[in-house]
Amino acid sequence: MNPLPEKLNQGRNVPDVLIVGAGIFGLWAARHAIMAGKRVLVLDRGRAGDGASGGFLGALMPHMPDRWNAKKQFQFEALTSLPDAVAALEADTGLACGYRRCGRLIPVLHRDTMGIVERRSGGAREYWAGRFRLEHVTPAPGNAGAGWPDARQAPFGMQFDDLSARVDPRAYLASLRAFVAAKGELREGVEAVRLEPGRAVLADGSAIEAGEIVVAAGWRAYELLQPFMSEMAIEAGGAIGRGVKGQAVLVHHTHGDDLPILYADGTYVVPHAGNRVAIGSTARDEWDHAAPEAFDPGDMGFYERALELVPALRDAPILERWANVRPRNMLAQTRHEPFMGPVPGHEWLSARIGGFRIGMAVGHMESDATPLARPRVSHLK
Ligand SMILES: Cc1cc2nc3c(=O)[nH]c(=O)nc-3n(C[C@H](O)[C@H](O)[C@H](O)COP(=O)(O)OP(=O)(O)OC[C@H]3O[C@@H](n4cnc5c(N)ncnc54)[C@H](O)[C@@H]3O)c2cc1C
Repeated sequence: MNPLPEKLNQGRNVPDVLIVGAGIFGLWAARHAIMAGKRVLVLDRGRAGDGASGGFLGALMPHMPDRWNAKKQFQFEALTSLPDAVAALEADTGLACGYRRCGRLIPVLHRDTMGIVERRSGGAREYWAGRFRLEHVTPAPGNAGAGWPDARQAPFGMQFDDLSARVDPRAYLASLRAFVAAKGELREGVEAVRLEPGRAVLADGSAIEAGEIVVAAGWRAYELLQPFMSEMAIEAGGAIGRGVKGQAVLVHHTHGDDLPILYADGTYVVPHAGNRVAIGSTARDEWDHAAPEAFDPGDMGFYERALELVPALRDAPILERWANVRPRNMLAQTRHEPFMGPVPGHEWLSARIGGFRIGMAVGHMESDATPLARPRVSHLK
């Protein structure tokens, strides 16, 4: 038996909750459990934030407010509750998360799309409950007019919404990590290789017991969970989820931090404080599992698109190139949903794994408020 951290040795020798993985989802699971009075131990095979959460994009972009469904409602609730969740975290730790509701501009490239924007605008009034707007604009509002984006890139104006936001992923993680390390236990460099009822077996052969185990190991979580969800895996075509590799670039570009996110053709340009602009991202199903964090300089189409959108970025020096693997749930109908909730038939086990491209926006939600916990998802009753 692995010696438990000192705080956990006071009283019972077993944490109430063991969380495997210290990304956004694992750290939020820890914060919720700590605030509920539980004794929490979080493990990470590397350092907190080594996974998909540790990048620099942090775009918090709502799904379009048309063809409304439970997934969109869930994400809306997440996006609207996040500012308070972040403010409370910042108050607890004194560490800012770089959150700003910056809005988003999407250039309209075809005349036909203007009708779609009109429909979404009506949807925003209805489904965003009049609290946020989505509208067709030309030119862009505020400061954004000056080449953000280049006018030639928006031949039929733009769609603007004021619900989209951004957060600085590393600052956000640092704030969460500080809270969890102070109020619970965080052990880095400790890998869980297998789960058994009520315990996690570690790479060194020892084991940690816990009343409840939460698997929040990003794309690696699927392998840990697969033995307990094999029937669902068969239904989903063999796997409950998989890793999708992505890469992004961070540049230095002087701006007043009052710009919106730009989004076009899968490329997103995210203005951050400190004259940083993040540009992303690729999505590759096939990648070398021996080098999940290797950046491929030949796969920079997203960056080229960003330079077309904002020609001034051509002069912006690249500060960092980053690649990592994001989790993609294969169970949910749309494959974009996070994977959160109890694992049926195993009352000691639950999962909290990021949603494809939206993880940062929803990681703070409690598991019982998630799509996976809702009856409409037939797989997990
Ligand atoms: C290029 C790219 C761009 C993205 N852009 C955005 C964006 O703009 N907005 C957005 O909302 N989302 C974005 N995402 C998605 C988002 O980053 C993820 O949904 C989210 O970070 C997933 O969080 P997580 O906690 O589930 O996983 P992770 O952050 O991957 O955390 C899992 C943790 O578990 C640890 N771990 C793994 N296996 C084990 C084990 N066996 N034992 C112990 N520890 C283990 C890992 O070291 C890691 O720290 C992007 C992802 C990528 C890759």
